Amino acid sequence: MSAPVWNGKDDVTTTAALIVAAGRGTRAGGSLPKQWRPLAGRRVIDHAVAAFVRSPRIGPICLVLHPDDLDYAAAFRQAGHIVALGGATRSASVRNGLDALTGLGVTRVLIHDAARPCISAGLIGSVTDALDHTPGAAPALAVTDALWTGAEGRVTGTRDRTGLYRAQTPQGFHFDAIRAAHAAHPEAAADDVAVARAAGLDVSIVPGEERNLKVTHPGDFARAERILGGSMDIRTGNGFDVHRFGPGDHVTLCGIAVPHDRGLQGHSDADVGMHAVTDAIYGALADGDIGQHFPPSDPQWKGAESHIFLSHAVALAGERGFTITHADCTLICEHPKIGPHAPAMRAEMARIMGLSPDRVSVKATTSEKLGFTGRGEGIAALATATLVAA
Ligand code: MG
Repeated sequence: MSAPVWNGKDDVTTTAALIVAAGRGTRAGGSLPKQWRPLAGRRVIDHAVAAFVRSPRIGPICLVLHPDDLDYAAAFRQAGHIVALGGATRSASVRNGLDALTGLGVTRVLIHDAARPCISAGLIGSVTDALDHTPGAAPALAVTDALWTGAEGRVTGTRDRTGLYRAQTPQGFHFDAIRAAHAAHPEAAADDVAVARAAGLDVSIVPGEERNLKVTHPGDFARAERILGGSMDIRTGNGFDVHRFGPGDHVTLCGIAVPHDRGLQGHSDADVGMHAVTDAIYGALADGDIGQHFPPSDPQWKGAESHIFLSHAVALAGERGFTITHADCTLICEHPKIGPHAPAMRAEMARIMGLSPDRVSVKATTSEKLGFTGRGEGIAALATATLVAA
């Protein structure tokens, strides 16, 4: 690949990611090296690559692959990434990656293990920021468990944990400095921080994240799957509804009876706001709408109170493994005035959905006397609901 292309990120071309994926580790079980194993719908390596692709702080991305894995290289190159060949040791692989990034104007590099798929945008940012002050920066977590030595299943001693850290990646460095450090340190090293320190570089500790685990054992895959699955399946749905005015002395909106000189007509209680929210939840589940779940042709729903519909949608979300985290409803009418009733509407919808009221929004607008709502022929409502896989 030649010079990296502008991809809408800031300061793109100066901070690179180097993702080391040349290991053969199969301790996680199976015959496939762990970086190629499936995890939460894609391969382990793809999660790490995606995190750096999404980060506005990162320009070129270089992957270091084992010579036996070059079948995978074409797709990465097609996506605009650089592919380098792994060496006999991890350090040799990193050196090859640094060589491949040379000449592209890179000033900083974040070196990351492909086996840490839960890397967050926040951690990429904090390692990058720390490089403003030191030539090296890497995330780590202070050891909080007691430390023992042991042999043959028995404790043989204890160790002071003061000042001990569990190292993570990405480990970030000024590019020329780490390149020179690796050139001066041809032998194997535990990680790039060890190489940097051997060259006398200052490396600052950035707070690591528990979620940034290295997938090594079979149980780590289950944990990573929960972290990635939980953070990735976020859905929004929208809903829209209209009911026309007819004779009456009140309208029911978002579960609250609001006095008015007309009522809303409909098969049920015609609660246009609650219907829109209910349809937004069905929409997020990609499962039809109120009319499909409660057919108007079925007489048992005549005059039904709309909390039945909303409760059904909420229960369905739960059955599918989703938690509703937020709902936002806009009522569109000239009259009645919604503002004074909005707090009660939020509280009632929050109660039905099992949410705190600060996760439910009800607001209103007029349509400037335009259209059917402007002429006072009816009320329209639109809504958005956000669902997160539990
Ligand atoms: Mg309706």
